[in-house]
Amino acid sequence: MPERHGRLIVFSAPSGAGKSTLKDALMSRFPMLRYSISATTRKPRPGEHEGEHYFFKTPEEFQGMIDSGELVEHMEVHKNHYGTPRAPILKALEAGLSVILDLDVYGKVNFDKAFPEALGILILPPSLEELRRRLAARKADSEDVMRLRLENASKELEFAAAHGKYEYRIVNDSFEYALEELTRIFEKELDTPRARAGTSA
Ligand code: ADP
Ligand code: 5GP
Repeated sequence: MPERHGRLIVFSAPSGAGKSTLKDALMSRFPMLRYSISATTRKPRPGEHEGEHYFFKTPEEFQGMIDSGELVEHMEVHKNHYGTPRAPILKALEAGLSVILDLDVYGKVNFDKAFPEALGILILPPSLEELRRRLAARKADSEDVMRLRLENASKELEFAAAHGKYEYRIVNDSFEYALEELTRIFEKELDTPRARAGTSA
């Protein structure tokens, strides 16, 4: 049997498409997946924890991470800064684990320069109207923030269609269907159905 190496899997989606919910469900199905925790200058939402959802930084701290070369890529998204720390990714890959990352469509282009072998998965909402409903249902953002995220969604989708390197594009209409589709993709790409936990398939 050839030795298995970890993979890098990048999720991108307009805000509210359901990327984090799908990612969480996949993480519980595939125990050898690690999540790349980004640094951000965004303030934590209720229920978000330091070192679990993000490393929450001041603008000065974030700039320090850029200056010291700690970040693979960084991008301003919806008026906040987000960046991907390099060290945890390398550590996980060295341990033979796979890493799932959450990057905006512009950050993915820069990430590919460092890791061209990364697999891209674009999660799409069934419609912009449904995206608006989901952003509202999440109750995480103010009206202004939701408006900005919706305005950016169309531009992000256009950019991804024209320039994005995404091997898979999944419409998250029915959550169960999208999760099953992604599960099949992960089984194929990670090449190890035995890594699935708690399922008999
Ligand atoms: P993202 O991480 O892409 O910004 P979230 O995972 O936070 O989005 O999902 C946004 C909201 O939409 C959440 O309230 C989530 O429960 C809900 N949601 C996710 N997928 C679906 C779906 N297929 N149908 C309806 N609501 C969904
Ligand atoms: P949110 O504020 O909803 O958690 O994330 C907003 C956006 O930032 C999403 O599109 C998400 O994919 C993106 N994002 C999160 N972390 C990173 C990162 O490390 N780099 C880049 N480029 N985008 C990120």
